[in-house]
Amino acid sequence: ATDSGADVVEERVETTDGREIEVAANVGRPAELGPAADRGADGVGLYRTEFLFLDRESPPSEDEQYEAVREALDTFPEGRVVVRTLDIGGDKRIPYLDLPEEENPFLGERGVRRSLGPDADLFVTQLRALLRAAADGEGDLAVMFPLVASIEELEGALDALDDAAADLDDAGVEYERPEVGVMVETPSAVFVAEELAARVDFLSIGTNDLTQYVMAADRENERVGDLHDPTYPGVVRAIHRTVEAAHARDAWVGMCGEMAGDPDLTELLVGLGLDELSMSAVTVPDVKAAVSETSYSTASERAEDARNAATRSAVTNSQQ
Ligand code: PEP
Ligand code: MG
Repeated sequence: ATDSGADVVEERVETTDGREIEVAANVGRPAELGPAADRGADGVGLYRTEFLFLDRESPPSEDEQYEAVREALDTFPEGRVVVRTLDIGGDKRIPYLDLPEEENPFLGERGVRRSLGPDADLFVTQLRALLRAAADGEGDLAVMFPLVASIEELEGALDALDDAAADLDDAGVEYERPEVGVMVETPSAVFVAEELAARVDFLSIGTNDLTQYVMAADRENERVGDLHDPTYPGVVRAIHRTVEAAHARDAWVGMCGEMAGDPDLTELLVGLGLDELSMSAVTVPDVKAAVSETSYSTASERAEDARNAATRSAVTNSQQ
């Protein structure tokens, strides 16, 4: 048993009526991989690669990044490892990367915006490392892009991936194309989710940022902390819309924001149709236990009530 009570379950879990839900871990540092596997995570649903850039004076080399991703893939030989490309700006600063001073950093140059702008060289280096690791590592690699707000940005990121592959072709280096996905963290991404999903293999909902932008409530400002809550109907409907859009385009859809790690919300998320949930490793056993106790058909009915609810309390009540 774990601190939280639930037993570690190594196997994949499904609902009482047989819908399999992938339960994965969010990790940042290589040292978190082993503990995630020990907690029974099926894989990694969010590898926050910015941590590889912290506590040093210059960016990690292509080889260092390759090694870090290899380690993740080798830790989950039967699983999938979703690596997010560098996501800095907003609250995440790296001294040597010369981020601008901005009035509104959360509405500024962050996430994929930097990778398509000032950090374009770093981006291609990272993508080369990922393509190489995909060929050599044991588990299945997936790559996703943070804070995408437009189809144009996704196409820019996909072009960079093609450029990285072309570099490796020219150099005669072996590589494999990983699965590719987009994080849904902006209202715009929700509205164009179907067009995004048509171009990739999966979507992953980042509820920390998505809630911040849907509710216009800074994720770090306690004065508006009450509004930064993904059980408000506006966020619930954004999640539902994203799931429907992904499935309409045969893409799988996961969630890697904090919401995914709350076992009290597992039934709601399963009912909304999420295929994968990724969370801090400590909550993996609890969420696996919650999935195993959930009936997908009941959860879907309750999720419909949640989608029709007008208030946060009505969303919560729909799940009791
Ligand atoms: C999110 O925004 O929900 C997310 C998972 O990304 P991060 O918390 O790293 O911004
Ligand atoms: Mg985010």
